[in-house]
Amino acid sequence: MVTLQKNSPASSDNPPSAPNTITVRNPITGETVGTIPIQTPEEVRAAVERARAAQPAWNAIGVRERARLIERWRRAMWDEQAAMIDLIRSETGKAEGGAFTEIVVTDLIAQFNIREAPRRLRPQSRKPAFPIVHRSKVYFKPYGVVGFITPWNYPLLNGVGDIVAALITGNTAVIKPSEITPFTAIRAIELMHKSGIPADVAQIVTGGGSTGAALLDYVDYVSFTGSTATGRKIAVRCAERLIPCSLELGGKDPAIIMPDADLDAAAKGVLTGALENAGQVCVSIERIYVQESVYEPFMQKLLENANQLYFCGGKGLDVHFGSLTNERELTRTEQQIADAVAKGAKVVFGGKRRPDLGPLFFEPTILTDVDHTMDAMREETFGPLVPVMKVANEDEAIRLANDNRYGLSASVFGKNRAHAEKIARQIIAGDVAINHPMLTFGTPGAPMGGAPGRESGLGRRNGIEGLMRFVTPQAITFDTGWATPPGLSHTPPRAVFLARVMHRIRRVLPI
Ligand code: NAD
Repeated sequence: MVTLQKNSPASSDNPPSAPNTITVRNPITGETVGTIPIQTPEEVRAAVERARAAQPAWNAIGVRERARLIERWRRAMWDEQAAMIDLIRSETGKAEGGAFTEIVVTDLIAQFNIREAPRRLRPQSRKPAFPIVHRSKVYFKPYGVVGFITPWNYPLLNGVGDIVAALITGNTAVIKPSEITPFTAIRAIELMHKSGIPADVAQIVTGGGSTGAALLDYVDYVSFTGSTATGRKIAVRCAERLIPCSLELGGKDPAIIMPDADLDAAAKGVLTGALENAGQVCVSIERIYVQESVYEPFMQKLLENANQLYFCGGKGLDVHFGSLTNERELTRTEQQIADAVAKGAKVVFGGKRRPDLGPLFFEPTILTDVDHTMDAMREETFGPLVPVMKVANEDEAIRLANDNRYGLSASVFGKNRAHAEKIARQIIAGDVAINHPMLTFGTPGAPMGGAPGRESGLGRRNGIEGLMRFVTPQAITFDTGWATPPGLSHTPPRAVFLARVMHRIRRVLPI
């Protein structure tokens, strides 16, 4: 069991973390949010064993009862939203709107799974070789214990959102939340237990990379959300153990502004898409391609709107974005700006730290005259950066959008929806949002994940695809015994006769 010390005094009064513990601090105030133990491989193994022992009973209660308990949890989360928003903000430094969005989207994902799981998990009949003579059914069985390893940027949505699909399909779950923001997941799981979900069915283990690595040794399926570098290590370990995994990794998402776009709406969309959570989003807009004919008026709208941005550490849904969560990402953003400027880019808006607001605040920063030699256009950015590139036409926009090792999400802005959709289909990305940034991630029925052949991950979260990744099909096929009982040969005369008859029938009837 995790023992936690929460809400200890402000950082100036804090001793350094005790050995084998991690102290979580508020990125704006520096106050201690709490301390977590770094759990050992032995403790992780014990948690997985408890989860494994609890799984058959959890599976046996049936999908409707599991859905009922998850529905109670969903309502409890919604009722507790004010406290949950404060907790998310205390760990991440994000604006209230961002924290509220986490609750809304997690709630939508839960609703989707509650509604869909009962019918999607029903056994299906499949076409046999010889109809009537043979029957075939497919059952959808949970893997057992699913291990979740999650990042810090959306501690509720990315920390807990996926767990609903694993639990409702009859798996139990052991979650290793990010050591930077563990308390949101801890509270969400406490609420699961209060809602009637047994303690061993959904458990938390705390710690850093070593605790996450230990989880890989014992679970039956791994759902990982985080960086591409860590994702690669997870994939290697899962391959060694021959267990399945889904990997939601990094991105460098492009946005294409078409000449017929509503330029004011597109500018607003680009700013929200690039600056939500101070740009610390896997699916944030990180490079913008504007066609020459509308480049100047688009830039004018972008700057006009950027001047209206309101960022600070205070409360209120009108705050556009808040603090970054850690110094590492802020430094990386500054390095990308310096690299771009050294190679000829211009900072036309922002570009500085804002220590007057808090230690990790950075101005929304618009770069122009950028190109693909610059890190800001090639490497993932987790900061409020908006690099804009002028392109000759849509072919060049598509070519440049696809010139990247990632392929997570993308955006297209254009009034002609059919044409925007045609452009979208040529972009190498797991999803594309038209005329509204990050729309797919807020659409629980739509699958989300990396495009094949790129470095944004494997598998899908959300949608039917995200639900069904947590089950494995088991086919059960039987012979009625009256026409093709087993003989010493696979081709007894009666079976040969039936095969010939079926071949003729299937020329005219699709049975
Ligand atoms: P990270 O890879 O550093 O850490 C993610 C998790 O992995 C943490 O819980 C960490 O403790 C754990 N971990 C670290 N080393 C490990 C190891 N060797 N074995 C097992 N677990 C280990 O990522 P982060 O900095 O927390 O998150 C930011 C990254 O996540 C960005 O690249 C972002 O794009 C990506 N991300 C992707 C999505 C998506 O849906 N595709 C969503 C959110 C974040």
